[in-house]
Amino acid sequence: MSTENIKCLIIGSGPAGYTAAIYASRANLAPVLYEGIQPGGQLTTTTEIDNFPGYPEGISGNEMMEDLKKQALRFGTDVRFGTITEVDLSNRPFKITVDGETDLLAESLIISTGATAKYLGIESEEKFRGQGVSACATCDGFFYKGKDVAVVGGGDTACEEASYLAGMCNKVYMIVRRDVLRASQAMQERVKNTPNIEILWNYNTKELTGTPFGGVNGAILVHKNGTEKKIDIHGFFLAIGHHPNSELFSKWVKTNDEGYIITEGKSSKTNIPGVFAAGDVQDNSYRQAITAAGSGCMAAMDAERFLSENK
Ligand code: NDP
Repeated sequence: MSTENIKCLIIGSGPAGYTAAIYASRANLAPVLYEGIQPGGQLTTTTEIDNFPGYPEGISGNEMMEDLKKQALRFGTDVRFGTITEVDLSNRPFKITVDGETDLLAESLIISTGATAKYLGIESEEKFRGQGVSACATCDGFFYKGKDVAVVGGGDTACEEASYLAGMCNKVYMIVRRDVLRASQAMQERVKNTPNIEILWNYNTKELTGTPFGGVNGAILVHKNGTEKKIDIHGFFLAIGHHPNSELFSKWVKTNDEGYIITEGKSSKTNIPGVFAAGDVQDNSYRQAITAAGSGCMAAMDAERFLSENK
């Protein structure tokens, strides 16, 4: 088993990880970035990105992640395919295992492993992913302008996404599995007072219908009492929560009740000196590519300061 010393190790290849890599490379930290099991992160599962500043014509998620990777490579980031399988953050340098084989010793660590949207787990949902099925209304809602869509969930995210979609779609169904919403009172009032939002109480989704090239055209729902209902929709938005990908680190790094890594004040610092967190793994509130990129920049700057003070 070989061991390698690394000054700045970045785990994760979404906008947070690549932005951290660009800044860390330019600061001569010789960063090594491990891409993880989903190179490019969550954005590679979306279609067009129209809200990232600097792309006036929009850009596909895959293309944007390729651009970010190229920019990191241009400044010398060592981008590697591989997944971190174990970490020991009890002492610095931190001991990191890649794919159960290679050992690394990292003087500083930037965790940017993102979050994973929860899906229902039905077969048709997988089949139509990116073709009517989305877990991000702000990313994909625009494609359903003037159409009928559905949002699954009854929390603040579902209400926020339903309100957002109601501003551009013809009709928004909210599919809620109980007879109450979990969302805050203010959000509940907002959706209940929006004329083109219809809440379908006590319903679960059985299957989505559609065609291979045309995408989703409907959903079959089942009421608590067993009766079925079909709705005609073109977009199906999941808003049933996210999992932060923090399990590997939670033995060492402080997380909140939902598993999001806690960062100190207006910084990317975790409770362990030399370990920083950026992007969705530490953000359950904004979850945007641009905010993730901004926090990646912060993490690289925090790592640079830390390394210069702790030579
Ligand atoms: P939540 O966990 O709060 O809500 C998830 C919702 O999805 C619940 O209504 C839940 O139903 C439903 N759900 C879960 N699993 C399924 C399933 N398999 N089938 C159908 N429905 C399901 O997640 P959110 O993402 O909404 O919010 C996460 C956190 O972020 C919360 O603390 C929230 O307050 C916060 N937030 C705040 C915002 C703001 O303040 N502006 C905006 C967005 C989020 P059930 O209730 O039956 O469990």
